[in-house]
Amino acid sequence: MSSEKELKIREIDLRDAIFSAITLAQAEISKIRVGAAVLAVNSKGDSSIFSGCNIEISFSRAFHAENVALLKAISSGYTNIKAVAITSDSETKQGAAMCGCCRQDYMYLNPDCMIYVFNPDKSLKLKVKLIDTMKYPYLSKGMIR
Ligand SMILES: [Zn+2]
Repeated sequence: MSSEKELKIREIDLRDAIFSAITLAQAEISKIRVGAAVLAVNSKGDSSIFSGCNIEISFSRAFHAENVALLKAISSGYTNIKAVAITSDSETKQGAAMCGCCRQDYMYLNPDCMIYVFNPDKSLKLKVKLIDTMKYPYLSKGMIR
């Protein structure tokens, strides 16, 4: 199966994963719950989806959902990042294609990674290639293999 075709099929899996993950968000500080999911491939060529939610432990320690999902993928041996999907329950920030810090983390792994942003009603709001969100990209190759 071509990578493009598999990605299309996995869009639904990614969407399901983010709406499951958002229910686990710990967002007592921002009051904005976020769900994310990463589609990644390991060294054997197997693909899998890793979900994450935002975790706000304290004012000085908060983890973004897309970063939690990314770290789960990497720590499971799935370092070839193909796509990330996100949603939040904030109407005003819904259009954001991830914060700059998270996008740069993904840039180190795959600038061609697809980003999907879903509305709270589960409709697709935005589908964009990560590199296309960067006007002046920092293209340093990360250290993750
Ligand atoms: Zn972020």
